[in-house]
Amino acid sequence: MPEKKTKYIFVTGGVVSALGKGIASSSLGILLKKRGFKVNMIKCDPYINVDPGTMNPFQHGEVFVLDDGSETDLDLGHYERFLDQSMTKNNNVTTGQVYHTVITRERRGDYLGATVQVIPHITEEIKSLIRRPAKDNPDTDVVIVEIGGTVGDIESQPFLEAIRQMALESDPENTLFIHLTLVPYIATAGEVKTKPTQHSVKALREIGIQPRILVCRTAKPLDEPIRNKIGLFCSVPAKHVISAVDVETIYEVPLKFHEEGLDRAVCDHLQLGNGEPDMSDWEEIIAKVKDPAHRLKIAICGKYVHLKDAYKSIIEAFIHAGVENNARVDLIWVSSEDIKKSGATKLLSDIDGLLIPGGFGERGVEGKIESIRFVRENKIPFLGICLGMQCAVIEYARNVCGLKDAHSYEFYAELKHPVIHLMADQEGVTNLGGTMRLGAYPAKLDPYSKSYRAYGCEDISERHRHRYEFNNAYRDLFADTTMKPVGVSPDGRLVEIVEVTDHPWFVGVQFHPELKSRPTRAHPLFRDFVAAAVIYHTGKKEADKSSDKNSDIQSRQNVS
Ligand code: GLN
Repeated sequence: MPEKKTKYIFVTGGVVSALGKGIASSSLGILLKKRGFKVNMIKCDPYINVDPGTMNPFQHGEVFVLDDGSETDLDLGHYERFLDQSMTKNNNVTTGQVYHTVITRERRGDYLGATVQVIPHITEEIKSLIRRPAKDNPDTDVVIVEIGGTVGDIESQPFLEAIRQMALESDPENTLFIHLTLVPYIATAGEVKTKPTQHSVKALREIGIQPRILVCRTAKPLDEPIRNKIGLFCSVPAKHVISAVDVETIYEVPLKFHEEGLDRAVCDHLQLGNGEPDMSDWEEIIAKVKDPAHRLKIAICGKYVHLKDAYKSIIEAFIHAGVENNARVDLIWVSSEDIKKSGATKLLSDIDGLLIPGGFGERGVEGKIESIRFVRENKIPFLGICLGMQCAVIEYARNVCGLKDAHSYEFYAELKHPVIHLMADQEGVTNLGGTMRLGAYPAKLDPYSKSYRAYGCEDISERHRHRYEFNNAYRDLFADTTMKPVGVSPDGRLVEIVEVTDHPWFVGVQFHPELKSRPTRAHPLFRDFVAAAVIYHTGKKEADKSSDKNSDIQSRQNVS
């Protein structure tokens, strides 16, 4: 049998950043997967960091951690969620990794005699990293390669040169360039403008890349004359000019692309045969997202609330959990520093649940602790993630166990009560890149816990990204309280989940459940957290109704 040839789709971006290349690539990925093809995805990040693990969330947004412990770009979260497929470190390539490998080889003497250059040494390394996933899984039909940044950026040039070479080295039906661009509507002129797209395609052609399909971000669908014009100036058939209109939920994008004929055009070019994708499960999700029975308010109290990209997977996990509970979750973003200034009672008075996300550094921690006290005492559902769980332990230690100066060793080395401390194997770690407890770890659940009820099993595996842990020196002290360690590592040494038993739903987890939530399969903890918030919300409404009734009766009695 002749060896199967994996086909490559390269997705580039033009005009401006933040057009949603990750979502566009993932949407195409799921359409091809639903057509029956084996699809994989790669994100090429042109920055010089080896991975985004050392970057500030304000710069880069969320760091998406995989099972294998790699810290990757948040687009890998979209890939996993849209394709319902787990990624590995091979799905994210950065300039930092490429140069690191090439320079290590040079020092070893592998290139002895040669001048090491961008072309061919850097580009060869990029090509081999792009080919690696299909080499490891030879039954892969299609790999979608997303090139980060915008055409014209200095950093992305070696990547563009590498994919140009890959197209040159293969048959035309085995590679395809798709360019994602912006067609803005200019209100004063009352029309859409095609010039930015023309310029950006021109920039691609100057480096030897001719896109075959243009995906145009636009407020309204592009009409035929505009598609013809873009097609003519950019040397693309008009039917390959796809309108990517703004949609209510990102999960609609694949369906819109399908209506626009994107997957058909891709399959035609790559000679991938006929057939239609069955997207019925996605249609159901969208119907539920758009028309929910309940509406809830859940507060997220964190440090990076002005930059929603820092909490991307949490936002998506709430959408998935909403679908399973027939509810829309309106997220109330509360800066933990504001809690300290204005008080939890004022800022959190009408919420149905509180989530404290992960984070690093002491800024805002006291506000988080105060807001946890508020929901614990008022029996409002709570989910604490990583630093959120650590804050819940500190709050409980201070306000219930009476350890007034309980805190985390992350913030103060000299502490009377370091209820959160450093693991022994983290002591003395000086290199900060890739050295936390990272990736999938197993845990065992107490069968009488809410977590067990959520997961429906005793053995779980979840993704971690932290250095500090629950301090076992306090296990005995907590044993006689209502805060229980209900999830522990298989050897019992690490506390992975705590719950407060005299509360309707109070769960703190040392891992990041949001990273494993999928639109067709909400994460069990998010699902049950939202379910608890629905119950809380309904109870609150009923209490309001009966107090209205009582005050009606009272005022009638006063009148008579
Ligand atoms: N800063 C904490 C730690 O390193 C929590 C990390 C997190 O929330 N991801 O342990």
